[in-house]
Amino acid sequence: MREILNKNKKMRRKILIGVSWPYANGEIHIGHLAGQYVSCDVFARYHRLRGNDVLMVSGSDDHGAPIQFKAEEKGITPKELVTQSRKHLVKTYQDLSFLYENFTSTSTEIHKETVQSIFLVLKKHGYLIKKKSKQYWDPKVKRFLPDRYVRGTCPYCKNPNARGDECPECGKFLAPEELLEPRSTLSDATPILKETEHYYLDLPQFSKQLMKWLSTKNDWRKWVLEFSKGWIKNGLEPRPITRDMSWGIPVPEKGWENKVIYVWFDAVIGYLSASIEWSEKFANKTKLSWEDFWKDEKAEHYYFIAGGNVPFHTIIWPSQLIGYNTKYSSKKEFEEFHLRGERKQKELNLPTKVVANKMLLLHGKKMSKGDNIGISATELLKTYSADHIRYFTLRYAPENHDTEFTWKDFIDANNNELVGIIGNFINRTLTFTKNNFESKVPKGSLDLEVGEQIHRTFVNIENHLEKTEFNKAIKELLKLGKFANKYFNDQTPWISIKEDSEKAGNTIYNAIQLVEAFRVLLKPFLPQTARTISQMLNKDNEYDPNEELQTNGYISKKQDLWQFTPIPPEHLINKPQILFNKVEYTKAQQQADIQNKKTKTKSPSLKASNKSHTIEFDLFQKIDLRVGLVKDATIPKWSQKLIKMRVSFGSEEKTIFGGLREWYKPAELIGQKFLFVYNLKPKKVGEGTSEGMILAAGEPPLLISIDDKIPEGTRLS
Ligand SMILES: [Zn+2]
Repeated sequence: MREILNKNKKMRRKILIGVSWPYANGEIHIGHLAGQYVSCDVFARYHRLRGNDVLMVSGSDDHGAPIQFKAEEKGITPKELVTQSRKHLVKTYQDLSFLYENFTSTSTEIHKETVQSIFLVLKKHGYLIKKKSKQYWDPKVKRFLPDRYVRGTCPYCKNPNARGDECPECGKFLAPEELLEPRSTLSDATPILKETEHYYLDLPQFSKQLMKWLSTKNDWRKWVLEFSKGWIKNGLEPRPITRDMSWGIPVPEKGWENKVIYVWFDAVIGYLSASIEWSEKFANKTKLSWEDFWKDEKAEHYYFIAGGNVPFHTIIWPSQLIGYNTKYSSKKEFEEFHLRGERKQKELNLPTKVVANKMLLLHGKKMSKGDNIGISATELLKTYSADHIRYFTLRYAPENHDTEFTWKDFIDANNNELVGIIGNFINRTLTFTKNNFESKVPKGSLDLEVGEQIHRTFVNIENHLEKTEFNKAIKELLKLGKFANKYFNDQTPWISIKEDSEKAGNTIYNAIQLVEAFRVLLKPFLPQTARTISQMLNKDNEYDPNEELQTNGYISKKQDLWQFTPIPPEHLINKPQILFNKVEYTKAQQQADIQNKKTKTKSPSLKASNKSHTIEFDLFQKIDLRVGLVKDATIPKWSQKLIKMRVSFGSEEKTIFGGLREWYKPAELIGQKFLFVYNLKPKKVGEGTSEGMILAAGEPPLLISIDDKIPEGTRLS
């Protein structure tokens, strides 16, 4: 551990963490928590403990049509609505122990200034273009309809309830005009197309630079990278950044008073404006300015977002930044489009890493506030502890694959792991110390095995967190818990205390050191639990940067506290308390899980035919089976059953069709590796040609996914 500590001592890192902005309209649900909100908090807490300078920003995303419409429905102003929602949001965040350097909103003056500055620079440099277009207009309520407010039949999969921006069934991005039999969700009227004019961000101008930038990213989750590159390869298109509405950031141009800037263009800029706001509040206390995080080449930028927001953070936000950075090549422009507190004529950093998760599904479906699918954080917090929720969402975070939520997993995570393993060990140890050693740490020396386990856990968790692998990090805690229980059982202190109290003392000395290790290791993950352990171990006077941030709003001391220091003999501990309580797997939850299984079609039946013909080895050798990476997947317009895939086998790409439509969404396949028959003679299917075959097992088909470590193109033998 020493070398690692020394390595980090040399350089205090600057880490900006941008967390996607929750929409100021409705609830945070468990899908959001598993998606991004818990992992970013762990990441930030960890880096603060290491003594790094952290700036984690986010806030409520206040703009957008749904807010305006909902406010009108309630008879209040949008501003009143977002103020109410924000209060609720902040409370939920506090209850879940989320800790931000600045959690603000997009309706601040600083944000407006920053967005308008970016708009003007992009416009000046020709990155914005004006275009006339026809847009749906609701003749009953007499207004233009945002994409989501037009529903109709998906032209690809014929789902009758597709939205104007996306089909939730097949995952295709849509334009409202593509929908068959469109209708307005505001009045149910058939909308008519009407002409309007808007500014567009000319994304094609950035394609080359984006591709070059993305090609330097070797440590991103593969699917995030493939998805982003796929978008660019398919050809970027100019994207409208203004709309006909009154709620939002005004377009800084005469004659455009009835239009505002589109919410997606403004929300991502929040990362920058929230940093500027933080700087104004705390620069004199921290001696750091937003520029230290945004203009130091060594500063690292991490974005924690939901899978659906990937293009906004890997394509659109970087484009905005690249375009805006042009102002720094001219002193005159630097002064003209000056941001608050800006001193250095130096470019802004692009994202270092975009950390996105796939989805936590409920009954095989994406949880969505709009469609009322999901379990809200508020509901969960009524019955379950914040640390239980945090633990579960990290343990089952859908980092590389969609994961199905079940109540059983949720309950088991608490009962079997937190209560049964970690809580049980800590409780046994502390109770034993209290009952047999008058609450004093007995004499002993650290067993080699115990020391090694502790050391390894610190190193492994550090490595996993550096790679933003939260599933793996949390499993290390569980591993240490299992080791600790086994150690306690093998040493049988309850027997040795009667015969050889020195031996029992040594066991408990070691067990206490394991508790101490847990106390530090749990800090980023389960802060409330770590606090309780600190109290029990009588170590609650120790300095903790996260606690200081929570109390004062900033951190004054920087030191590396991610380390294990043995507790000396004679140290007095406090009364043990129960860390985790068992919770009940209720009848209703069991019912929900059963229902869930029934609606899920993806588990194949195990009935496989036993009849099998033998073949000659020669024939087997002729079949070329290879690992392929699905780079793109779409549904061909001419088929209801097939999915068309672009599959990479390393040096070569092939187009392969699979009859998977009924069981898989194209988006679920992208970025995943499967097994393919590589040398199948090209076969005509419908209007296309398939140059290979995907392998699946059972009926319905379960695709055989391949370990990410095996490179695409690998031949099976
Ligand atoms: Zn569809």
